[in-house]
Amino acid sequence: MRCFSCGKLSFEPVCKECVKDFLTPEMIETEIGNLEVVSFFDYYLTVEFIKSKYISSGYRVYKFIAKKFFAPFIKAYVEHLDNKEIYLIGVDENISRGYSNVALLSEFAARKAKIKALHGVLRAKNRVQYAGKSLEFRLNNPRNFKYTGPKNIQAILIDDTTTTGTTLEEAHRVLKENGVNVHFALTVANAREGVDY
Ligand SMILES: [Zn+2]
Repeated sequence: MRCFSCGKLSFEPVCKECVKDFLTPEMIETEIGNLEVVSFFDYYLTVEFIKSKYISSGYRVYKFIAKKFFAPFIKAYVEHLDNKEIYLIGVDENISRGYSNVALLSEFAARKAKIKALHGVLRAKNRVQYAGKSLEFRLNNPRNFKYTGPKNIQAILIDDTTTTGTTLEEAHRVLKENGVNVHFALTVANAREGVDY
């Protein structure tokens, strides 16, 4: 196949050189409310990979990111837990172009860690687009998440990008209301300056 980024022939969806140049994890930690958010990359350096969710080849890219970065991280975390009964919950797993990029992240990470991903249990009732919108707009137009998964469980939240943090904060609140104890949130990229996505 060809590398998603440079187009050279490659065994993997992203070639070794492009991984080295663009996908070297930084592990950015931020706090949103009292939720710890861990992100692998800076949004600005990885925007072409993040935005692949809007095209069909994003399936390969997100599966690659899930296996290479999310899976070992989640596996290592779960190994250190006394109570390994913990679930991965993707934020608003929407299917477009035949796949959900967030579901790919949580599914492949869960398989590796031998835990379960709960798919489609945290859905936004408000489909408003946040891209290009201000923090004020985001606060005035909440996602209105509905949680339909099991109550009183342990979980890790999974998303592709965190921008202003309003989505994760809202998701966290709704989960807490349902007795879900979220250990932390894990995202591919962090756009700390509040850029579009
Ligand atoms: Zn490449």
